[in-house]
Amino acid sequence: MRVAAISIFPEMFRAITDYGVSGRAVSEGHLVLDCINPRTFTHDRHRTVDDRPYGGGPGMVMKAEPLEAAIDEAVERVGGEAKVICLSPQGRVLDQAMVESLAEEPGLVLLSGRYEGIDERVLESWVDEEISIGDYVLSGGELAAMVLVDAVVRQIPGVLGHSQSAVEDSFADGLLDCPHYTRPEAHRGSRVPEVLLGGDHERIRRWRLKQSLQRTLIRRPELLQERELTAEEQRLLAE
Ligand code: SAM
Repeated sequence: MRVAAISIFPEMFRAITDYGVSGRAVSEGHLVLDCINPRTFTHDRHRTVDDRPYGGGPGMVMKAEPLEAAIDEAVERVGGEAKVICLSPQGRVLDQAMVESLAEEPGLVLLSGRYEGIDERVLESWVDEEISIGDYVLSGGELAAMVLVDAVVRQIPGVLGHSQSAVEDSFADGLLDCPHYTRPEAHRGSRVPEVLLGGDHERIRRWRLKQSLQRTLIRRPELLQERELTAEEQRLLAE
């Protein structure tokens, strides 16, 4: 997948290109991440990308011209076919279904705002979708863009070491993930559930499914309402 991130702080994206699963996705060629700084497309001595808001008020607004030139460049870099997304607290809130659908896109352009936000005319004419990562306000879109890329990259076949990992994560099947344990067997008086030590794969599968169902019911009951339970799941929940 090709992603172009438009930001006045391109160095921030090293957090995903240089570390962990997303870093490995870059080094193995599953993800090509280009960063484009809108300051490159300014023509004044100070490389100005913001200006005072019409109508007055606090803060600055990101100017249209450098962002539009940056979007043009970004679309070209990802191969000409790209969904242009602006990270915004006013956008549709990102969830796993959106992440899975974005992973199918050949290319993404991610526009990160700063200051009070972006000149509305850019959003009207150059952006396909605004996406939020939650109902709170960040100082800039970069962290939100990185959250999106990290979540999307996990869905690209071959990125995760174990082929089942993404499938078993929370939300993949509409449920929260089951609890996990590793050595030692006893830790501060708390023991690993007996079933996980026995090697009976079918019992372990049923135990994990039941744990997932119970956790989802307790922590996120609304997820169960959005999902039809199989006969086995209904039985396990009722046990
Ligand atoms: N004045 C804007 C508003 O209230 O809607 C907030 C601007 S915010 C300080 C600056 C930038 O951070 C935004 O343009 C956006 O790119 C990013 N941002 C802030 N909160 C976000 C969120 N919850 N999800 C995604 N991006 C966010």
